[in-house]
Order: sequence, then structure tokens, then C-alpha cells
Amino acid sequence: MSSLLVDGIGELVTNEPGGESGPLGIRRDVALLVEDGRVAWVGPSRDAPAADRRLDAQGAAVLPGFVDSHAHLVFAGDRAAEFAARMAGQPYTGGGIRTTVGATRAAGDDELRATVRRLRDEALRQGTTTMEIKSGYGLTVTDEARSLRIAAEVSEETTFLGAHVVPAEYADRPDDYVGLVCGPMLAAAAPHARWIDVFCERGAFDVDHARAILACGQAVGLGVRVHANQLGPGPGVQLGVELGAASVDHCTHLTDADVDALASSRYDCMCADSLHTTTVATLLPGAEFSTRSPYPDARRLLDAGVTVALATDCNPGSSYTSSMPFCVALAVREMRMTPAEAVWAATAGGARALRRDDIGRLGVGARADLIVLDAPSHLHLAYRPGVPLIRQVLRNGVLQ
Ligand SMILES: [Zn+2]
Repeated sequence: MSSLLVDGIGELVTNEPGGESGPLGIRRDVALLVEDGRVAWVGPSRDAPAADRRLDAQGAAVLPGFVDSHAHLVFAGDRAAEFAARMAGQPYTGGGIRTTVGATRAAGDDELRATVRRLRDEALRQGTTTMEIKSGYGLTVTDEARSLRIAAEVSEETTFLGAHVVPAEYADRPDDYVGLVCGPMLAAAAPHARWIDVFCERGAFDVDHARAILACGQAVGLGVRVHANQLGPGPGVQLGVELGAASVDHCTHLTDADVDALASSRYDCMCADSLHTTTVATLLPGAEFSTRSPYPDARRLLDAGVTVALATDCNPGSSYTSSMPFCVALAVREMRMTPAEAVWAATAGGARALRRDDIGRLGVGARADLIVLDAPSHLHLAYRPGVPLIRQVLRNGVLQ
């Protein structure tokens, strides 16, 4: 059994009870022992046990690895020209998804696999130690199943998004496409997926189709997530709460009833700040940045008691970033989150959105997924935007 002692820590973000006030459970003058890929001990530096190896953080901040709970990595091609057109004034409609579907279907497995791994590695270098990956650019039985198979090679958090858009060949018969998604496509996808997701939005899937698809997924044991209320107000958020979704994602256009529905899913989780919502609101500011759209109002959700996560939405159309530090900086600057709230949302919040209690925190028993910043405090993630601040990353206790 090999052990590693992390010491010289300037500030340890634990997301656990017992630290300084605020959501991050910050502790100082502590060391952390890793054994067998898990956190085995956290305590005062002077009491640190002996270990086989030592990692000296040299006064830097140590945080849980980022948990990116929303990403679309299985695709081919890019849409840089579409981005340029948007920046020249064209609105985002979501229609470009079909462009990527065509390129993805035409690509070989190795090409898709190389893209997934390249983006996964890019995210890891920026401190992301858990990354959810969706299908949704295949939209045939074969292409959705292979997308998830390839995603599952690098992540245990895989999501079947056959209901991303109605593909062109079904444009005039969406009911038939919903039948395909709930039938043979789900059967082929489910063995490789933990979650099911639907893009519930005007131009994608209406509430009845979305409810039917999510219910089919639930019936075969998949957890529910929803793309909701991104482009305008709609029923997606309330549908997600109704179905007990782990997360409703985007939440850019919310009515008071949507916020109330999310807040009403509060429960006592017996954790640090004791109350959380069953359905997390996952905000994806990279999408608003890349589509030049108004940002979601995180403050309104937080003040209502809703649990908030931050994720990248990494995809070639509306948010081609894999950087959680970038999302933290956007959330602080544009969404009225404090730096502590944003860092919590990018770590513990993401873990809650994936219903995981072994990641997103640094307490005894947690997976030893952690990052050492090139900075003395978590504040620098928002204070120094665009700067490569991730000095070291440990995943399962292994230096990457
Ligand atoms: Zn998305």
C-alpha cells in the first residue's frame, strides 16, 4: 500500500464541515494523506503521519479536482465559421447541431476516440478530474451506441442524449423519432450510459416528447438530466423537478415558478450546510459567452436556496471550452456569484449534479482527486482569469 503526504498547503479547500465559515470548508496549516487513491487523513501539519512519498505544495492552495457535469465530447469537425458568423451578428438557434451530426456519422471510431481523449486530456490539465460525457451527435441506433461506448472508455459518467435534436431524416415525423429513441436506440445505448438527457426547447423536443423519453430512460434504470430553458422560457425546468432529475442544465430563462419548483426540491442532506436541492441547477456560462447571450442569474437561484453547479457544456457549436477555471471566472464576473460560491459550484456542485459523494470534496474517504494551484488562494481562479493556474493534478491519488 503506497502512501503520499501532501503538505506545505497554504489553503485547503475541503467542501467539508469543520473549516472556516463559508461554503468551502477552508482549513490552514493542515496536511493530507493519500492511500490507495483515497484521502486517508487530514489534520494539523505537525501531526502528519509518515508516508512513502511527499508532495510539497509550497504554500499553494489545494482544491478538490473540478467536476464538469455537462460536456459533449463525442463529435467530429468544428464550427469555427458559425462562431465567427455569430460574432458578426447572427443569432444562435441550435440548428448547427445537425452540421456536427453529419460530420460525426461520417467519422471513423478512431477519429472520434482521438477527439474525446484530446479534450479529456485538455480538461485534465486544467484541473478537471471528473467529466460527464454525452452522446447526441450520432442520432442513429449505431452512432449513439458507439458514441457512448467511446465515451465510457474515459468516463464512468456517460449520458444518452439521442434526443438532442430531431435529425433531418425525421424532420417531418418527430413522433417516429421519439419512438426510435425510446425503443431500439435506448436499448443499444443503455448498457453504456448512466444517465438520459433531453434537449427540451423550442426547435428541439416539446414537453410531451421530453417526458416520454425521460420516462423510458428511467424505466431501464438511467438517471435523469435535462437541457432546459436555454434559449427562452419553457417547461423543461419544471419537468425535470417533476421527474426528480439530478440536474436541469442551462437555466438561463427562468420564471419565478421555475425557481420555486427548484427550491421546493430541498432536502436535509446532513452535510456541511445541511440543505440542498434534489434537482441541481447547472449553469453553463461558456454557452452564453460563445453565443453572446445574457447570462443566467445565479444569485437569484442561490438566494432561493437552490443548489447550483457550474459546467463547461464543452461542444463544438455553442461552447467550445473545456476550462472550468474560465467558467468560474465568468460566473463571478457575470453571474453575481462570489468566488467561493463559484469554486464550490465547480467542485461539490458538480458532484451533486452527478449524485456523487466520493468526489468534489477533500475529506477522509473521498477519492484523492485534487489540484494544486499556482496561487495561494482559490480567489485567484476568478481574480486572474485566463492564466494557467493549475500546477499539479492528482487523480485517484496519482500525479497526472
Ligand atoms: Zn449541452
